[in-house]
Amino acid sequence: MLQALRAPAGGLFERLRAMHPELTAFRRDLHAHPELGFEEVRTAAKVADALRVCGVDEVHTGIGKTGVVGVIRGQRAGAGSGSGRSIGLRADMDALPMREENDFSWRSTTSGLMHGCGHDGHTTMLIGAARALAATRRFDGTVVLIFQPGEEGFAGAKAMIDDGLFDRFNVDAVYAMHNWPSLAPGKIGINPGPMMAAADRIEIVINGRGGHGAHPYLTIDPVLVAAHIITAAQSLVSRNVNPLDNAVVSLCAMQAGDVGAYSVIPRQARLVGTVRTFRREVQDMLEERLGRLVESVAIGFGATATLDYKRSYPATINTPREAMFLADVAAALVGEENVIRDLPPSMGAEDFSFMLQTKPGAYFRLGQGGEGGCFLHSTRYDFNDEVLPLGAAVFASLAEQAMPLAA
Ligand SMILES: [Zn+2]
Ligand SMILES: [Zn+2]
Repeated sequence: MLQALRAPAGGLFERLRAMHPELTAFRRDLHAHPELGFEEVRTAAKVADALRVCGVDEVHTGIGKTGVVGVIRGQRAGAGSGSGRSIGLRADMDALPMREENDFSWRSTTSGLMHGCGHDGHTTMLIGAARALAATRRFDGTVVLIFQPGEEGFAGAKAMIDDGLFDRFNVDAVYAMHNWPSLAPGKIGINPGPMMAAADRIEIVINGRGGHGAHPYLTIDPVLVAAHIITAAQSLVSRNVNPLDNAVVSLCAMQAGDVGAYSVIPRQARLVGTVRTFRREVQDMLEERLGRLVESVAIGFGATATLDYKRSYPATINTPREAMFLADVAAALVGEENVIRDLPPSMGAEDFSFMLQTKPGAYFRLGQGGEGGCFLHSTRYDFNDEVLPLGAAVFASLAEQAMPLAA
């Protein structure tokens, strides 16, 4: 497929490199003003303003609460003479509820909020692509720029879809990227299938009978039941999941009694955790097995226990055709030696999965390096501005290559 692609559209990368100072300033301004999911009011306004300055054809705000959509029509587009093709490019805009420990001048100005996942960079790269695409319009079709709210646990992508995103703006395929600190700047990673896992939230409530720590025979101790459930849950992945599949069951928090009450057996214990899977069959099996295990372990001790199992983000699964198209587009920009086409999936999760449940498309990683092992969601993380022109060029190039002008 690589041979079929045109050379990286003349001057695209160079034009984006020329915008580097402005893109850096835009990114740092977003970084200094982080906003939580569905509260991206300032960010959405900045994005809408920037799109208008770029000269895109349409700007729509308030989709999925604070989402923004920009539309750029190519030199030929729409019905009649145009190809009727369209492509969606997505960036996320939200920050995290965490305290930043950086001391550079563009650090967060809002205490307790931080762009700790680089969504400031994703948004900026899509603005860069919009500017390049709107200036030259060297494509035959329509580009839909999707700026989504609330990726960090708020399912903002789903909110936009539920608000009619793809009914109002049809796209043939949709693409998104995430910066990746453990890949070197200039590297791009993807694979033709699962990229991120499904993330489910579990809560187990165990009810016993409280009483005096010196007289446990008069109680039903929910702490002991919790301990057995925690241990038994470790058998799910090791004894029930096919070793050729991937799954994680983690019980991450436990709450019972009062640390000041050293001789009081509490009435209740709660466990909270997460289940990560890639295949629906494995997810269904783990939900069912965990539920039975929780209830039966509790019954064995004379207690009762319930499992509340909430499916939040589905697995992020690329469609092979679009994933390899992305890899070809990336290779045309950075060279085949800098494209990893079989990047191993991560057990993390991503709400772009909701878009991939609706449309063909691909989610890829853009290397950005990370000094001192500073990974996403670290208090000292910062997006690497060095890769802004490259990320923007990949987005813009996807549009130009997916909808080429007739020769
Ligand atoms: Zn994140
Ligand atoms: Zn993120």
